[in-house]
Amino acid sequence: MEWIESLPDRPVAPTKSANDLLPLFGGVLPDHPTDPVDVVDELATLAEPGIMAMSSGRFFGWVIGGTLPAALGADWLVSAWDQNAAMRYASPATAAIEETAGRWIVELLGLPTRSDVGFTTGGTAANFVGITAGRGWVLEQAGWDINAQGFNGAPRITVLAGAERHISVDLALRYSGLGLPTLVDADDQGRIIPSALASALDDVDGPVIVCLQAGNLHSGAFDPMRECSDLAHAKNAWVHVDGAFGLWAAASPQFVDALDGVDLADSWATDAHKTLNVPYDCGVAIVSKKDAAVKAFGVQASYLTRDGAMTDPMEVTPEMSRRARGVPVWAALRQLGRTGVVDMIDRLAENARALASGLGALGGVTVLNDVVFTQVSLSFGADERTREVTARLISDGTVWMSGSKWNGHDILRISVSNWSTDAAEVAIAIAAVKRAIAAVGIEPD
Ligand SMILES: *Cc1c(COP(=O)(O)O)cnc(C)c1O
Repeated sequence: MEWIESLPDRPVAPTKSANDLLPLFGGVLPDHPTDPVDVVDELATLAEPGIMAMSSGRFFGWVIGGTLPAALGADWLVSAWDQNAAMRYASPATAAIEETAGRWIVELLGLPTRSDVGFTTGGTAANFVGITAGRGWVLEQAGWDINAQGFNGAPRITVLAGAERHISVDLALRYSGLGLPTLVDADDQGRIIPSALASALDDVDGPVIVCLQAGNLHSGAFDPMRECSDLAHAKNAWVHVDGAFGLWAAASPQFVDALDGVDLADSWATDAHKTLNVPYDCGVAIVSKKDAAVKAFGVQASYLTRDGAMTDPMEVTPEMSRRARGVPVWAALRQLGRTGVVDMIDRLAENARALASGLGALGGVTVLNDVVFTQVSLSFGADERTREVTARLISDGTVWMSGSKWNGHDILRISVSNWSTDAAEVAIAIAAVKRAIAAVGIEPD
């Protein structure tokens, strides 16, 4: 509670590095027991200087998100209950809660209602679920049973992905044995160019998976969903959408046009721990093609007790045993309701626009992207100067924004992902960037 209460005022950055902290945690394995209350006190005290205030409203780094109060409380319950969320029969309450949360998500995002939903560790694992379900399906269409026959001698699968896909798509492809994707050209905002996808599809023969993106991590941009899905489906391809943070835009009427046709895909990956603001970790894998997820991840064994013919939670994700990480999702959605989710998403986007316009008005700042969702990418001139401003800003500690590279140049990237960020914190952030610019000095001509 002390930590949470400190969030509105504390500096965002940690003051100690992991290496600084290592010796403080005691070094060698203790020989003797310690009172559990003392253990928890010791942890809280020793860790504090090394905790980044990621759930502060002044944290704009990577794409992280904070924690809604009901989701945090629910997460504590999940630990206290200590359910293995694998089977409906064994942990009925968490199964019912997660099934409801899954149904609510699918409804909010306007995806096909009968989709299978699995709660994974994050977006990477959710990408893996969607792509692996797709792998089995496209091979089945080609008369090949991947589960029985494996990859040896299988028809070659072509994977097409945008040049600016998130790197976790490559990881998911690696995990599923598909190797590197064939890249499709993207425009200046990182969106797949449909004509480039069309010609890439023309070049392939055989099973195809197309990976689209809802939410580019630098620009926030969405691939043209309808056009790309239609092109892909005309070739009987599986369409997977990585929407780790951006898929949530589909809940808001404001983004209906931007995400038009997103429901046409066959699988989607998103995170609840980013835009929905539940604690780490929680990703969501959604697969609309009937049985495709269960064919990839389902399992039967004599010692597992089935609840009739119902799909068990462990049949749609890679893990057998896992925590009931969908429970905080239920709590977040219960706290907010549909209008609350829409308000939160709209507010994140509004804060991003306010940051872009406030910062863009400062001398020497260029906003590099069309601010279509929660992401703002900035340049302060030459790469070196952008890096200096970023370093100053981070050492100032009032806010946290991360450096990155986009289109070959250094940038400062802002992601507005925290439900609690308000107009005052947006103003504080603009002032902090202004101070960092002043500290670096006028750009030399
Ligand atoms: C964060 C992110 C991922 C990976 O999600 P994790 O939860 O970190 O595994 C995938 N795609 C996009 C666009 C992301 O922003």
